[in-house]
Amino acid sequence: MIVPARVTFLGTGTSHGVPMIACDCAVCTSTDPRDKRLRTSIYVDVPDRQRILVDTSPDLRQQALTHGIDRLDAVLFTHSHADHILGLDEVRRFNAIQGGAIPCYADAATWEALRRAFSYIFDGVPRLGGGVPELEVHEIDGPFTFHGVRVVPVPLWHGRMPVLGFRFGSFAYLTDCNRIPDESWPLLDGVRIVILDALRERPHPTHFTVAEAVGVIEKVGPRRAFLTHMTHDLGHAATNATLPAGVELAYDGLVLDVDVDVE
Ligand SMILES: [Zn+2]
Ligand SMILES: [Zn+2]
Ligand SMILES: [Zn+2]
Repeated sequence: MIVPARVTFLGTGTSHGVPMIACDCAVCTSTDPRDKRLRTSIYVDVPDRQRILVDTSPDLRQQALTHGIDRLDAVLFTHSHADHILGLDEVRRFNAIQGGAIPCYADAATWEALRRAFSYIFDGVPRLGGGVPELEVHEIDGPFTFHGVRVVPVPLWHGRMPVLGFRFGSFAYLTDCNRIPDESWPLLDGVRIVILDALRERPHPTHFTVAEAVGVIEKVGPRRAFLTHMTHDLGHAATNATLPAGVELAYDGLVLDVDVDVE
């Protein structure tokens, strides 16, 4: 069954964020609010069912305050880079609000990295005063359903690192990648809205450029596509003016109506 959901872009910036510290370039000093980019993350709200956060960016606290996020039913991780995990400690607040552990979904490699990066969460040592996020660990290695919402992980390459995109119904979120392996193309069949990594115009060893991203979008053939994870090289208005019909730069706070698959 397909039900409507809303996706909010909590952050659309690369690992440094935009503006970047100590940069006075035209984009970092722009007054266009769409040129302010926190670190990349989305929030998927399936009304009356689930509120899903994809990645815990270092800006999670600010993102939750800005968008009035008061509940997390699940967290999905795409990969373990710092700009996608370092806000994990903020989950403590949701533990307190909701009175329990938060279900978190990641592949085996990402869990291994999370256990190293956040050893205080996993070492079992009691700490005076508490202060440790409570997580429910779910290791994923294929499509899964939680509370009725069906999620299809889409394996991607991010340089030499295998990472996950996620498909929910007719919408796919594919951040931090520069290659879609042959076996993942069928997982994108029939997708109507795609969110895809597009770092900048110049080539990069682990991210799609804008031109490469547009090429992938033409091959997938969605109705609409949104680019994310941009550096300060890409001013919002100027870059958008160069994109083909149906392709746009995302921006922080953009909300999309999508369809997700539920049981
Ligand atoms: Zn700059
Ligand atoms: Zn990354
Ligand atoms: Zn990233």
